[in-house]
Amino acid sequence: MIPKPTGTLVPIRTRAEIRAALQTVNCYIIPIPAKAANELILALRDVVPLHELQHLRRLSRPAFIPVAVAANLPPTQFPPEQSILYILICTTDKAPIQQIVDVAAKISPFQRKHGRRITPKPQVSIITVPANMPTSQEQSDLWSKKYWPVVYKRGNPFGPHPSLVENTQMKLTRAHEYMEIAWKVAHEVADIGIGHRCGAVVVNPDTGDVIAAAGDARSRTNESGWCYPLAHPVMRLVEMVAQKRLKRGEVVSPNNPITPLTETERKYLNSESMESLDGREAQKEAQKAAQKEDQKEAQKESKTDGTSEDASPPMANYLCHNMHIYLTHEPCVMCSMALLHSRVGIVVFQHRMVNSGALVSEFDGGLGHGLFWRPDLNWKYLTWQWQNDTPHTRNEVPDNISA
Ligand SMILES: [Zn+2]
Repeated sequence: MIPKPTGTLVPIRTRAEIRAALQTVNCYIIPIPAKAANELILALRDVVPLHELQHLRRLSRPAFIPVAVAANLPPTQFPPEQSILYILICTTDKAPIQQIVDVAAKISPFQRKHGRRITPKPQVSIITVPANMPTSQEQSDLWSKKYWPVVYKRGNPFGPHPSLVENTQMKLTRAHEYMEIAWKVAHEVADIGIGHRCGAVVVNPDTGDVIAAAGDARSRTNESGWCYPLAHPVMRLVEMVAQKRLKRGEVVSPNNPITPLTETERKYLNSESMESLDGREAQKEAQKAAQKEDQKEAQKESKTDGTSEDASPPMANYLCHNMHIYLTHEPCVMCSMALLHSRVGIVVFQHRMVNSGALVSEFDGGLGHGLFWRPDLNWKYLTWQWQNDTPHTRNEVPDNISA
């Protein structure tokens, strides 16, 4: 008996998130007795911009500075009994270091006092910090240990808002069940020798019903001996949805009938699972809001990003509007764009395809396309990787294949 697969859903990061996380800047810090911190901040305010770097703590006790960073700072010249704070000033491109030193030198701790043997000098140091806000608590904790104490404000200008991801993920309670069907159809097509061992499932998010299941069929030949190399699971899945819509009397073109090739494909193609595909107002609104935010950020960030198409045609014209897709393998560029053009709501895939997959954003060991959520695309969908380790779901598809 095949064991029931269990696993974990891991949200996929967007390209912008990956890029933002890699950017760092150099900035000035200076140690100062705690009681003089305000005096210095007021003096600096007139000279350098102190409103930047809001994702970093302006003041830090020496104990909260990461050990590796502290090791490169000179020992402070203040007596040990004085409570010291480090002030994060601004990025190094905003002012020359001498200007910071000159401003600091005018405040009281650095003025000569009667009876004091040594007058401390301002010790301005340069450290490297993350240039952008963290997009998760984990990232914030990591950066605080590596660079400088970080402030995490729940939000993500580089991808879907954390609450949208979390709320949607909480509802994906049947992921294991749908992945199992995707694997069933994958095994069927591979066992009869018509395609690679990969499969796809589309689910009606309102009812939880499986609308269609499709396996890979690129090796299947017709009467003339021709095969169809573009018969990837996703392409066949979208065709099946079109066919079911045709049965409902909707106008979908071209009218190109698709033949179910396995028992599982037949079962779902003949099922009545196309009902109540509308009425997902809550989800529509959530996605709309997230996309609006994202577009605003994109416009702020760059004016060269092209234009986002805002005035969308009626959603009923899109084959898989807001549907949920479960895939055994990360889809290729063609299939990822087909999902985007069909306006799917979410995608869950299991195996990464490092040479052909178009969803994962990391450049190391992947193509880095991140095609599910980019400001230059006119639709976005949420994407997760399904991670599990069940023998019958191991990857048997060669690396050079597009899924
Ligand atoms: Zn494909």
